[in-house]
Amino acid sequence: MLLKDKVAIITGGAKGIGRGMALKFAEEGCTVAIADIAIKEAEEAVDEIKKKGGNGIAIKCDVTSGQQVGDAVDKVVKKYGKIDILVNNAGAIAAHVPIEDLTEESWDKVLALNLKSDFLFCKYVVPHMKKKKYGKIINLSSIGAVQPPAHEIHYNTAKAGVIGFTTDLANALAPLNINVNCILPGPIRTSFYDHNIGSMTEEDKDKFFTRLGKKVPMQRVGTPEDMAGAALFLASELSAYITGQALYVAGGLPLLPPAPPPSSLAK
Ligand code: NAP
Repeated sequence: MLLKDKVAIITGGAKGIGRGMALKFAEEGCTVAIADIAIKEAEEAVDEIKKKGGNGIAIKCDVTSGQQVGDAVDKVVKKYGKIDILVNNAGAIAAHVPIEDLTEESWDKVLALNLKSDFLFCKYVVPHMKKKKYGKIINLSSIGAVQPPAHEIHYNTAKAGVIGFTTDLANALAPLNINVNCILPGPIRTSFYDHNIGSMTEEDKDKFFTRLGKKVPMQRVGTPEDMAGAALFLASELSAYITGQALYVAGGLPLLPPAPPPSSLAK
């Protein structure tokens, strides 16, 4: 088992990518604390972990609140005595808006959820990792940080900030045996897209994700399991000598999908 006797906090682990990571980490012997506002789904994920013989706890936490983050970290340390792994995964995209229509309130909200939350969790978790001289921190950025679709400037700015945050913290914590890396997912099939397609039938959703997959060199969108494998690598000793890196888990993006041969363009 790659994470035997480890303790992890995974934010936003009730659904989607975070849930995939929580299940995978638990399978590998890790105790998982899921910190999420969606407490019902977080409890269901923990029930699933326990049914499979694993261990975990669901904690209701709004990751944008310093008070709630501090309380969540205290709760985990009181219960399990340490935190070995932190995955800053909670995040969400916002509606496409041209900059002149983007409100100050929306900018602040999106930056708080997708960037400030990483700072808050690291602020409260790092002292515990320093004491043990051990830690693995994984932050979720996005392909949008480097290949941004237009009019998501608040989200893409936050996710680009996650890369800067990761490299700075990695440098500061490297002498203390604490690895800090980030993952840049490509399109992954989760409720992340619900703001666009939430009301569609399952059949239309399938069509949407098939079309989206065609924009990816590997010709498909990713799954939470694809993401969980990468996170497991970064959370385990397999990546002991890797820190400050941005790992694309994006089916080949930011490469362009395979282009037709130049000869066909000449016709
Ligand atoms: P998801 O399926 O929507 O899951 C996100 C989870 O975070 C949900 O349980 C959500 O609860 C929770 N959450 C939202 N706001 C929160 C808050 N303030 N405090 C605590 N928890 C909160 O999204 P996902 O696709 O798994 O995304 C995970 C991460 O990957 C995000 O950082 C996202 O930006 C990044 N990412 C995803 C994709 C993709 O294609 N899916 C691509 C690039 C990057 P509610 O549902 O109740 O709001």
